[in-house]
Amino acid sequence: MEKYLGKRHQIVKVVAIASIGFALGMLLHLKLLPDDSNQSAPEKQALSGAIAPIQQPAKALPPAFPIPAKFAGKTLYDVKLDNNEKVVALTIDDGPQAPETPQVLDILKSHNVKATFFVVGRAVEANPEIFQRTVAEGHAIGNHTWHHWYRRMSRATARSEIERTAEIIQKTTGVKTSLFRPPGGFLNNGLAAYAKSQKQAVVMWSVSSADTDPRAKPEAFVNNVLKGAKPGSIILMHDGGGDRSRSVKALPGMIGGLKQKGYRFVTLPELLEMTSR
Ligand SMILES: [Zn+2]
Repeated sequence: MEKYLGKRHQIVKVVAIASIGFALGMLLHLKLLPDDSNQSAPEKQALSGAIAPIQQPAKALPPAFPIPAKFAGKTLYDVKLDNNEKVVALTIDDGPQAPETPQVLDILKSHNVKATFFVVGRAVEANPEIFQRTVAEGHAIGNHTWHHWYRRMSRATARSEIERTAEIIQKTTGVKTSLFRPPGGFLNNGLAAYAKSQKQAVVMWSVSSADTDPRAKPEAFVNNVLKGAKPGSIILMHDGGGDRSRSVKALPGMIGGLKQKGYRFVTLPELLEMTSR
């Protein structure tokens, strides 16, 4: 009996020591690997001291231009701001094209203004570097179809017009956008219906510079914008789809005049985020 008890004590001791050892091991393990789930394999290796971490500069993710849920599948012309804050969104359509788009980008940069470019897919394909510069300089991007057709089209064609453009936008810059503008503002040819079915925002405008008028002077474009602008306005002008040298000439006056009236410029995604409507 004595012998048996002695053996039993030994077994208890061994078990107790083994348990303490196990518990310590677990504690050390936990300490070494805090928050296991959020670490990648190289980070785990670095923490365990096996391999020194190689610090690589963080690669910036391409911007995405999602929209607040309340605008998904909706058509809008402007936004009602809660406090009537003097902000407007400048939207620039039909590019990219040279020399106008780079000239527009230079002017926007010198005035520290961010705009939203509704790009045509085939123009992006023809001018990828200009488009990449547009994105790199912090402007927002919307989809303006591949061919810029006005005519009525089947759902398959509408889908191709929009998705092919979404693909070239993404392939060239990594950008994803949920902003869509129908060419010519035509809402009943199948394009807007397809965009809405994909939960995109169909973005029209409330103030046109009327810069596609072939007879008007740049001063007229400036006046149209300055007269029409209100808090929450979406302003329309063009950098592509023809000779836009007059639009380029009008741009500094538009920006300067609006700033003088106390307006500040935001991108469309920023404008949409500002409203609770
Ligand atoms: Zn257009």
